[in-house]
Amino acid sequence: MNNRVLIVEDEERLAAILADYLRQASFKAHCLNDGLKVVQWVREEQPALILLDLMLPGKDGMQICKEIRAFSDVPIIMITARVEEIDRLLGLELGADDYICKPFSPREVVARTKAVLRRSQGQQTVQTEGLTLNEATYRAVLDGHDLDLTAVEFKLLHYLAANPGRLFSRPQLMERIYPDQRIVSDRTIDSHIKKLRKKIAGAAAGQELIHSVYGVGYKFESCHY
Ligand code: CA
Repeated sequence: MNNRVLIVEDEERLAAILADYLRQASFKAHCLNDGLKVVQWVREEQPALILLDLMLPGKDGMQICKEIRAFSDVPIIMITARVEEIDRLLGLELGADDYICKPFSPREVVARTKAVLRRSQGQQTVQTEGLTLNEATYRAVLDGHDLDLTAVEFKLLHYLAANPGRLFSRPQLMERIYPDQRIVSDRTIDSHIKKLRKKIAGAAAGQELIHSVYGVGYKFESCHY
């Protein structure tokens, strides 16, 4: 799972403390102190979340936020030194997901980071292994190819991909896909999985993402052969 957090902060000591706390919470933290480098880095590295200071050398946080929103839904937490600034920022509708005021406790930042990630991963998009799943549009793209999935196939793949490496039994998957308890047989899941795999193979030859574990069920894991 993508657990990279980008810290954009020109006060280097502060950035280092935040990075420490995030690493202790099992995130990978990367720090940038120059506003001009941020957008390009985000394009290339696709972090899971960005902590973005407002006042930066080169380019300010507001402008950076706008530019990132033009191509990415990555969660952004804006950090500002002035509490009165937050109202103004909210009014501008920059598309940030949360706001934190300095001085902050690093613990609080970690907690807000986790909360924003939970919220965003609960809906929106899953991005992993060249695969992007947009829950709002039910669109699945693998290595640039639209997989053209049915709603059921999308739900299945989304659920598996959101929990990489975790093994699900057929009844667990059925419950997830048909929450209204419609009667479906195990074979229904098998047949959806079969079609999904075919579409995945069609989009990216040599890439297997859904694995069956004999007698148990299915899991999502990247594997090239
Ligand atoms: Ca600053």
